[in-house]
Amino acid sequence: MKSAIIVAAGKSARFGEDKLTALLFDKTVLSYSVNLFSQLCDEVILVTNEEADYGKKVKLAKGGATRFESVKNGLALLDKESTLVAIHDGARPFTSKALAEKLFSVAEKDGSAIPYTYVADTAYYDDKPLLREHLKLLQTPQIFETEKIVAAYENCRDNTSSDDSQVYRLQYGKVSFVLGEKSNAKITFRDDLPKYRIGYGFDVHSLTEGDGVRLGGITIPFNKKLLGHSDADALIHSIMDALLSACGEKDIGVIFPNSDESLKGIDSRVLLKRVLDILDKKGCEVLGVSSVIIAEAPKIAPHVDAMRKELSDILSLPFDCVNVSATTTEGLGIVGDGKGIAAQSMALCAYKD
Ligand code: MG
Repeated sequence: MKSAIIVAAGKSARFGEDKLTALLFDKTVLSYSVNLFSQLCDEVILVTNEEADYGKKVKLAKGGATRFESVKNGLALLDKESTLVAIHDGARPFTSKALAEKLFSVAEKDGSAIPYTYVADTAYYDDKPLLREHLKLLQTPQIFETEKIVAAYENCRDNTSSDDSQVYRLQYGKVSFVLGEKSNAKITFRDDLPKYRIGYGFDVHSLTEGDGVRLGGITIPFNKKLLGHSDADALIHSIMDALLSACGEKDIGVIFPNSDESLKGIDSRVLLKRVLDILDKKGCEVLGVSSVIIAEAPKIAPHVDAMRKELSDILSLPFDCVNVSATTTEGLGIVGDGKGIAAQSMALCAYKD
């Protein structure tokens, strides 16, 4: 039986207010961890001094004067059938399901699984530089065989420990480290909450005699094609402009000028990947894209899912986070006359720097 203890009794002194009830989109920071472990575990124990009601599966334990005491209060409430327990900071809302599942499977084999990340910056201890290759930054959830971590806490005489792996290591000599995820950050300061940015993009290309239109990275059979310097994929162009706008960059007309001969006839999917590299270098992550294609013909609706699949693969997003809808202009204007196809896109990005 899998259990989770979520420690949420801290004082948020460096954040300025209770960081666990601060909003991250439409939900509190704490609710992300509670929801994740409610999905993965048979029981969840929330250590808090606040009122909370997350349903039957989530039991409440009182917070102690130190983190050590809080965890101990959580361990005391574990079901007797518990075999593995994840101990997690309530202030880490970005833990992925994949990481938690990987840690559970390592802990089942090794008795413990401790996620860590590398240190990228130069680090000093007082005035001495440290060899960063030897440094690990530990994260949670840290997962243990329940019986072992309960015994380790019972035998531990140092109740100042702020990390469960230290308590386990004191008793058993070593722990199993597992590479964690940089995105699994702990929220300590107000700046740690990502800054969200939206971007908007619009594009139109004219239709000419041809054998199919490129839209969303696929070819839709038609007796015309879109005309442009590249493959004229108006949908991808509008998405690129939305992404560039969200991260404060200039538009694709500036970044990929039609005077650049190397871009002649280029597949717009290649350009989209270049835009993603620009975002990546700026620490800007795409969370979702929503687009509309405006066309009289060909019929777009039968091809929407294929475009969404293609785009979500390139953007590394779930299918549901990339949507494309289609409309006409009721016969009005250049689109209504069948002279061209237009596309509009909105993008939501998280900009961490
Ligand atoms: Mg264009």
